[in-house]
Amino acid sequence: MTRLPPPASFLALSTARPATPPAARERRLVVVSNRVAMADPGGKAAGGLAVGILAALKRSGGIWFGWSGAVTPAPPAAADVVHGDDITFATLALARRDYEQYYNGFANRVLWPLFHYRPGLIDYKREDFAGYLRVNRQFAQHLAPLLSPDDIIWVHDYHLMPLADELRRLGIEQPIGFFLHTPFPVTEILRVLPSHAALMRAMCAYDLVGFQTENDVWGFRDYLLRCAGGRAEGIDGISAFGRQLRAAVFPIGIDVDAIALQAAQSVDSRQMRRLQESLRQRRLIIGVDRLDYSKGLLQRFRAFERLIEMFPERRGHVTLMQIAPPTRSEVPEYSQIRRSLETAAGHINGRFAEFDWMPVRYLNKSFNHRTLCGFLRAAGVGLVTPLRDGMNLVAKEYVAAQDPTDPGVLVLSCFAGAARELGDALIVNPYDIDGVAEAIQEALMMPREERVERWQAMMAVMRRNDIAAWRDSFTAALADAAAGR
Ligand code: UDP
Repeated sequence: MTRLPPPASFLALSTARPATPPAARERRLVVVSNRVAMADPGGKAAGGLAVGILAALKRSGGIWFGWSGAVTPAPPAAADVVHGDDITFATLALARRDYEQYYNGFANRVLWPLFHYRPGLIDYKREDFAGYLRVNRQFAQHLAPLLSPDDIIWVHDYHLMPLADELRRLGIEQPIGFFLHTPFPVTEILRVLPSHAALMRAMCAYDLVGFQTENDVWGFRDYLLRCAGGRAEGIDGISAFGRQLRAAVFPIGIDVDAIALQAAQSVDSRQMRRLQESLRQRRLIIGVDRLDYSKGLLQRFRAFERLIEMFPERRGHVTLMQIAPPTRSEVPEYSQIRRSLETAAGHINGRFAEFDWMPVRYLNKSFNHRTLCGFLRAAGVGLVTPLRDGMNLVAKEYVAAQDPTDPGVLVLSCFAGAARELGDALIVNPYDIDGVAEAIQEALMMPREERVERWQAMMAVMRRNDIAAWRDSFTAALADAAAGR
């Protein structure tokens, strides 16, 4: 198991937390993302993106614009606008055809698998790409009338890569930044996409494009410099397709203290008592992932099976609890992975279970954040082994949720963005099933002193790169990039 040092340029970014320049503080923030989470930020609907966006908007006030989640027979005539205390929520429904082509089709059956290095899973159709562009145009048309000249606009994730280009066509000149929550692939993977040039040309309409890790920035720059005749300008500037932009790393963080508090408070909750009673002193290993093929769940189940095979003394004494709420159930690959996992969990339990011990608890449902934080704290091992992941917030949440005097051990895939910062986890290659099994064994055996030392090192990094640092550094860099334009 190796400890990964953070890359030098990342250290520079993470230690020098930029003060927000007044220009960025005073301007109204307009956030655009595929979905708008108007629900309770502590509730089930709130993933990491929603929590981060709400925190950003609450401080500066502003608009959150995106899809309402509703699907209607015809395209909407206007956005629904709801004014909250600090935040205005503006949402659009999607017409059925747009939902199929933009969301299920191009976003989730082309960009998602491609950006997670699974070109074999893509299902490219020209009409889906046309639908993707059409919805981005609709978003721009409904957003433009809501904008003021002093706004700064922050667009999120792979659903909306062409949005700035559509806004510029409507004459919008305000600073527009984009943050990609997923990985960005290397050039040879991106070139699998038949419309790669159109997409990358559109991306150059942003003033700033932000990524989770250095690897992602390299992929983006490499394409523009080698395949699009682009020119490097200074440390993070690029000019390509007749435009100038900056591309840099802004690793998303979490609200470390809030998670630690939630986890500590949940210790005496009813659910936690039920969990502890059901475990009967057995060691808990936990996994928490959306049911997605990028999360490496099949390989993880196999690694757990190998643990029981290779270390028979673990039989009857460990439990793997895998929480895997289903998502994107209309995309065929997701029903397929769901069936495979049910089979795999059934196989392990059928092979090893005793009348009083079930090795795998496989839960196809979601939990609210508070309960989840309690579960994370109760687990001696956090198993986060995606085959590819932009960041993976669960890895960070697992660390933040631990008891400082007796923390558990994080086993983390080298292909999760979080591995760049959390080099004090046990870093594994999720394809190396025996290696993951050995890492779990090492985690279960690790002396308290070493656990505390690794945990403290990871907490220090996470505190430096928390959610506020992410928001502040991105908005400051965006204001700066636009000023230089
Ligand atoms: N999450 C949750 N309840 C669940 C499962 C997950 O609140 O039952 C949250 C989890 O705590 C984390 C987010 O959903 O904040 C998942 O983010 P991550 O980056 O790990 O993965 P993604 O789903 O974005 O690929």
